[in-house]
Amino acid sequence: MDKKQLVIIGGGPAGLAAAIYAGRSDLDGMLLEKLSPGGQVLITDRVDNYPGFPEGISGFDLVDKMAAHARKFGIEEKNGEVVSITRQDDSSLKINLAGDEEILTRTIIIATGATHRALGVKGEEELTGRGVSYCATCDGPFFRDQVVAVVGGGDSAVQEAIFLTKFAKKVYVIHRRDELRATKILQKKAMENPLIEFIWDSIVEEIMGSDSVEAVRILNKKSGAKSTLAVQGVFIFVGIQPNTKFLRGFVDMDQGGFIKTDDWMRTSEKGVYAAGDCRLKPLLQIVTAVSDGATAAFAVEHDLS
Ligand SMILES: Cc1cc2nc3c(=O)[nH]c(=O)nc-3n(C[C@H](O)[C@H](O)[C@H](O)COP(=O)(O)OP(=O)(O)OC[C@H]3O[C@@H](n4cnc5c(N)ncnc54)[C@H](O)[C@@H]3O)c2cc1C
Repeated sequence: MDKKQLVIIGGGPAGLAAAIYAGRSDLDGMLLEKLSPGGQVLITDRVDNYPGFPEGISGFDLVDKMAAHARKFGIEEKNGEVVSITRQDDSSLKINLAGDEEILTRTIIIATGATHRALGVKGEEELTGRGVSYCATCDGPFFRDQVVAVVGGGDSAVQEAIFLTKFAKKVYVIHRRDELRATKILQKKAMENPLIEFIWDSIVEEIMGSDSVEAVRILNKKSGAKSTLAVQGVFIFVGIQPNTKFLRGFVDMDQGGFIKTDDWMRTSEKGVYAAGDCRLKPLLQIVTAVSDGATAAFAVEHDLS
């Protein structure tokens, strides 16, 4: 079996940046992606904070450019889902793909990103795709002139609540605390939006509806009062889970499954690096993902030579 110098797992911003740097360094590299390149940015309506685009850019256009940039430097692309990684010998790692395919490589950059967390309440799973959504950009237009609830209080929740006011006639933001975690500028935008109403100190206990969402049952944690709010959509933004289950026991992670690295993106396993949202770090954004990807590819080149 041919042995690659580098395999990058995941074609989001971190993986694509790593591919650009690896390609420019003439590494014999491969980019493995289970879907199509782009990652979470594919479902982001508008990116306003990526340097170089003062007017903002659509998420799709941004990652389309990144993928074209990676292809320009000759990265080999392969479609496939990694299910595990095993060590072969001191200088070889084996990547096992779904469907029993295997790839041998000297080094790996894990750039598998993250996925949004579920609330875990009654009705959520049954009504997902029938009013329950984790992506306002994808599903917002289905809720034109309807009433929706957003659950969460971080950047994603507030940003997506603002986005939903383009379609919905009313957006409730249900948050378990009495203040938001979102950045001040987003908070100000949301507070000033007449279509957004905040429901503080409250959690969603149940999502109700027979064929589609009809209401949410809310518990006010301070007063103990329960109420029912009629809504046709529920958008859930309550945290993020790294896509690292397949690596459990192979590299060091924190309790939440985020991979621990040093400043060079090296993990606890020789020849294995991690970049982007799957890595333990303070800020999960496109700009930090591409920075990680570039650093990881640089470290691979440095360590191989
Ligand atoms: C709704 C929303 C809005 C956002 N808005 C912004 C914003 O405005 N500005 C900003 O900077 N950031 C924003 N972000 C965050 C940003 O999208 C992420 O920080 C960034 O995409 C992380 O890049 P990544 O490459 O680490 O991971 P991801 O983008 O998650 O990409 C990971 C890739 O790995 C693939 N993959 C996963 N597991 C496997 C496997 N086992 N085998 C093969 N492939 C696999 C996935 O299919 C995916 O393509 C937003 C995110 C969301 C969800």
